[in-house]
Amino acid sequence: MKKVRCPKCENYLTFDETQYEEGQSLVFICEHCRKQFSIRIKKKGREGKQPADQPCGSITVIENRFAYEQTFPLKEGNNLIGRRCIGTVVDIPIETSDMSMDRRHCIIHVKKNAGKTTFTLRDNASLTGTFLQNELLGDKEQALLKDGSVVTIGATTFVLHIPAANGNE
Ligand SMILES: [Zn+2]
Repeated sequence: MKKVRCPKCENYLTFDETQYEEGQSLVFICEHCRKQFSIRIKKKGREGKQPADQPCGSITVIENRFAYEQTFPLKEGNNLIGRRCIGTVVDIPIETSDMSMDRRHCIIHVKKNAGKTTFTLRDNASLTGTFLQNELLGDKEQALLKDGSVVTIGATTFVLHIPAANGNE
């Protein structure tokens, strides 16, 4: 049995999904508020596997004396990362008092290609540089990231998280 929630009164209705085909639309009438609504039975094992629905991972900023722990989702394309500051627009504004982090410090580029997603890191001409696993990136260097990669900008460290369903090893 499966539960479905009425969109109007939010009460749950129960139904026997084995009576229906995958992909079939069902019409319900809510026994509480008489609202009529329909759902589609999901196809098994195919939910959320379309590349467009895949999340692009996230970064988690490790708590330190300048900032509390923060997590930011990544988007496809360039993700400009820096210290949050009024008047500076970046994709990932880290709230911190770490003045050794530039306002526009580094960039993570997310690229989706044939079901595989790649994450590359580059410095954005920052004063203190961008470090991957404690190694300073060169001026034009683009470093490939993987799940768990540790990046340090200024006195602040963040960790990359890549969802398992992302086509990465
Ligand atoms: Zn209802």
